[in-house]
Amino acid sequence: TPALLVKDVSFGYPDGRRALAGIDLRVEHGERVALLGPNGAGKSTLVLHLNGVLGGGEGLIEVAGLGVTKRNLREIRRRVGVVFQDPDDQLFMPTVAEDVAFGPRNFGVPEPEVAGKVAAALAAVAMTEHAERSPLHLSGGQRRRVALATVLACDPDILVLDEPSANLEPVARRELAELLLTLNRAMLMVSHDLPFALQLCPRGVLIDEGKVVADGPTADLLGDT
Ligand code: ADP
Ligand code: ADP
Repeated sequence: TPALLVKDVSFGYPDGRRALAGIDLRVEHGERVALLGPNGAGKSTLVLHLNGVLGGGEGLIEVAGLGVTKRNLREIRRRVGVVFQDPDDQLFMPTVAEDVAFGPRNFGVPEPEVAGKVAAALAAVAMTEHAERSPLHLSGGQRRRVALATVLACDPDILVLDEPSANLEPVARRELAELLLTLNRAMLMVSHDLPFALQLCPRGVLIDEGKVVADGPTADLLGDT
């Protein structure tokens, strides 16, 4: 089974026209895919469907074989690790370690195992030495990495990253790219930073008006846009 399977998904907001019009997408375990397209193409709407935030609509979505349905929402939210564009939407505890522990605790990981999950996630984003600091006192790049750790600690089958390089200085942006490349995990990355998408994602999917209009090597797609 693939990490993510999206089959013929359509959706319209109650007050608007169809934001998704028959999307098909398959992402294998370990594969990194850039989700590209102009403003209003439907990228955010698709992301909101992947973890069941937006219900309704037609079609099928499966994460590692489990269907996104109302009944499965809790497990789906663990399996789909969404890293928002603004880390401040994700960090709200007094320390980095508590923020990273929040997800595993919430998903029922037994307390003796939580510390190990936190340590592994912080090591994966090179933030071990900042575990006891307040997220408020970190740089933008460090906050982005902690937000990523909060999601990694839950062992997701796929990471969904919304504009991961936005508002980062060049050094922080390069560090994040290097770090993401070491994670052996499926990723779907919404990005307008084309060099970043090209560096990280061998495959690109271009969507427009709620449809996949191109799917192939990212370098080929960028030539078309
Ligand atoms: P993208 O993320 O690619 O910019 P969106 O998914 O935000 O695209 O938008 C897709 C379409 O859905 C656009 O036509 C947009 O105006 C519309 N849309 C997005 N969010 C809402 C909403 N909350 N209510 C009504 N229409 C929306
Ligand atoms: P992004 O850059 O992530 O695509 P947008 O600027 O398209 O973000 O949208 C920002 C927010 O506004 C989203 O939560 C989206 O759902 C909402 N939104 C977008 N278009 C509309 C719309 N036509 N009506 C209502 N809300 C919208």
